[in-house]
Amino acid sequence: MGVKGYIMQLQPFSVNDGEGIRTNIFMAGCPLRCRWCSNPEGFMQKEVIGWYRRRCIGCGACASVCPQGIGIDMDSACIAGHSGLTGHEMCIACSACVKVCPENARTRMVTIMDAEDIIHEIHRHRVFYSYSGGGVTFTGGEATMQPEFLDYLSHELYGMGYSLAIESCGYFDFEQVRESLERMDLIFMDLKHMDPAEHQKYTGVSNEKILDNIQKLATLGTTGSGSESKRGSSGLEIKSEGKEGPEIVIRIPVIGGVNNSEENIAASAAFVHEYLPHARMELLPYHRLGAVKYEAIGKPFDQDDFYTLDAEEMDRLREIVREQGVSLADYR
Ligand code: SF4
Ligand code: SF4
Repeated sequence: MGVKGYIMQLQPFSVNDGEGIRTNIFMAGCPLRCRWCSNPEGFMQKEVIGWYRRRCIGCGACASVCPQGIGIDMDSACIAGHSGLTGHEMCIACSACVKVCPENARTRMVTIMDAEDIIHEIHRHRVFYSYSGGGVTFTGGEATMQPEFLDYLSHELYGMGYSLAIESCGYFDFEQVRESLERMDLIFMDLKHMDPAEHQKYTGVSNEKILDNIQKLATLGTTGSGSESKRGSSGLEIKSEGKEGPEIVIRIPVIGGVNNSEENIAASAAFVHEYLPHARMELLPYHRLGAVKYEAIGKPFDQDDFYTLDAEEMDRLREIVREQGVSLADYR
């Protein structure tokens, strides 16, 4: 039986999470519950069916095939179950409705995929990676929440010569994923707040493990698998032979009202400068693009207390990072 994992999306032709043209692998499951999250379907490792109310034309095809007796409106209590549970809660993700919906109003938002199918998909786009200097980025959710799946995929793709990157919240068992991290050319790690209590308040966990893991990034070298003769078997140009370790970018999602004080940004940059003197930082403005996903999975969108900084305010914070001696990255 093949290696399988929970996947939210394979997103080809991405240009925001690493060099060149990339395929982003969104892996489901996350140990944090950031209140500003734009990918709430990926909180759990479980298959998820979404209902986009705005696309729905009310044809009833979904309700006619649902084995759970769920009606058109997945937000309403399930008719057949008499349990008071909503359609979202009763759904067993059988996909019958997805297959018959003429408007893509019912969609699979998290699905189980075989690693070989993912590799096959990536291979189809390899010409774009070679010409653009791109590759594959593991993201989520939180890719390290599926350590065996990440290890298998990164090992296989590394062996084939693909340039790899990972985007992580930083909350994981470092030694469990060390080898996967050492296969990366580029690691994006989030630093959401320097104050442990504020971090806990807005993400559900303290920042201690994350700060510890950021320091441990300095210990990464290249994995033994880098010398395997198998590397480069896809015919791709090998970009990272002889590298000292992955390039590091510490990202701050700048959430107005949460972590945008000059003091917090300066403290974050000072921390990065002290422990990862060669790392760069990237400041990303808060956005609300995920609101429609909350609607699709029947969860309340509760982000009224957050705001997006304007360009001038973001520039000022970037200047503060520079003043601490840290260079900036810009992948967005
Ligand atoms: S995925 Fe299956 S159980 Fe869920 S709503 Fe659709 S038909 Fe019903
Ligand atoms: S099949 Fe699709 S378009 Fe038709 S009622 Fe169901 S969700 Fe709406």
